[in-house]
Amino acid sequence: MAMMTGEQYVESMRAMKLKVYMFGKKIENPVDDPILRPSLNSVKATYDLAQNPEYEDLMTATSIFTGEKINRFLHIHQSPEDLVKKVKMQRLCGQQTAACFQRCVGMDAFNAVYSTSYEIDKKYGTSYFENFKKFAAYCQEKDFTVDGAMTDPKGDRGLAPHAQPDPDMYLRVVEKREDGIVVRGAKAHQTGAINSQEILIMPTISMGPEDKDYAVAFAVPTDTEGITMIIGRQSCDTRKLEGSELDVGNSEFGGVEALVIFDDVFVPNDRIFLNGEYEFAGMLVERFAGYHRQSYGGCKVGVGDVLIGASALAAEYNGVAKASHIKDKLIEMIHLNETLYCCGIACSAEGSETESGNYMIDLLLANVCKQNVTRFPYEIARLAEDIAGGIMVTAPSEADLRGEETGKWVEKYMVGAAGVSVENRIRILRLIENLCLGTAAVGYRTESLHGAGSPQAQRIMISRQGNLPMKKELAKKIAKVKE
Ligand code: SF4
Ligand code: FE
Repeated sequence: MAMMTGEQYVESMRAMKLKVYMFGKKIENPVDDPILRPSLNSVKATYDLAQNPEYEDLMTATSIFTGEKINRFLHIHQSPEDLVKKVKMQRLCGQQTAACFQRCVGMDAFNAVYSTSYEIDKKYGTSYFENFKKFAAYCQEKDFTVDGAMTDPKGDRGLAPHAQPDPDMYLRVVEKREDGIVVRGAKAHQTGAINSQEILIMPTISMGPEDKDYAVAFAVPTDTEGITMIIGRQSCDTRKLEGSELDVGNSEFGGVEALVIFDDVFVPNDRIFLNGEYEFAGMLVERFAGYHRQSYGGCKVGVGDVLIGASALAAEYNGVAKASHIKDKLIEMIHLNETLYCCGIACSAEGSETESGNYMIDLLLANVCKQNVTRFPYEIARLAEDIAGGIMVTAPSEADLRGEETGKWVEKYMVGAAGVSVENRIRILRLIENLCLGTAAVGYRTESLHGAGSPQAQRIMISRQGNLPMKKELAKKIAKVKE
């Protein structure tokens, strides 16, 4: 099948029999749920943009399995150029949705599992690489969205998986059968799980021999028997139920996360990509995290572009666009945003070939990229709020703007620069509110901190990859130190 259109994707999700809960109720039709629909629209955008000839070079690639044109979100990277295009595609998608478009986790898991399964097979003579290639080719054929799932609930963070009082705190194999395995556990904060046709599971930390049962990677359809998804709340989520598109700020697009429970789920043998080879768990984590840390140098930058644009408009609508401190704040926002992009591009351009033949980013630079992402979007958001003014959080609702009694007062006293409609002023303020404090703040702020690993995880990688001994030798040589 050729690539799906956005509409075909929506229909394919409608055909899924997902078990989704939200606000204590089973959601029979997540596709048309007013709280969930904007998140589906964000994924739909990755299909629509791929159909647009203008974006063909960024949004599509050539399948290494069939030679056919595929969506780049399903591509196995073949060069540093592919890695650069990936980041540019993510910036584009961030610009078009101002939200998390969710499909990157699958792309990052694809490339991490591809190279790792190859190396496991090389050591043990297993057939994980063949299994994975078959799965990846199938997803490309169907043009699926895949949820790459890594984060376990983790229970007591000070204890290894096997040492947890409740053994299900990390997802594990509970039964081995002739034809496959049965798994139990959960994956937390799963971006886009409800908008994906398949879920690709990976372990979340390095493991030792006692964690053997937890060292497991596999893929199953998201509506497999035994899988339950519980939607995570987002700040201001129920505004979407109020019927005012203006008050939502970004009514069209959004992101979504869920707690995904695996209650004794059967996985057939040909869908298993790691099963007990615990010493490869760390490699898989490092590679997936590396790719996803690169991803943030694209997606967050695209969302940042929208926030910077909104801030510049807010300044204009307030009548202060010419004030030198406003201009300087906008320059600072651009500087910070482009610095993030520099890191995303740099770790891609410095990418190298793995044993399997696909391309990995430069790990040190990808971790520096994500470490910056844990900081700069916060500063960009602070500056956006500074420019917008307090009105961003105190503006009356759309109902009051249109109200018979109140409309005239809102129109009179919410006025800004001459010629700017009050409605447009409120629209931009609501968008800034959405990005900094509302539903999109999950993706732009807290996810910038914790997504793809919390700040300390990057610092550990930076200390490992930073090569201090080499730097000390450089200093000794210049200073003519003789020891
Ligand atoms: Fe993609 Fe960014 Fe969302 Fe991760 S946070 S899935 S990289 S849009
Ligand atoms: Fe993420």
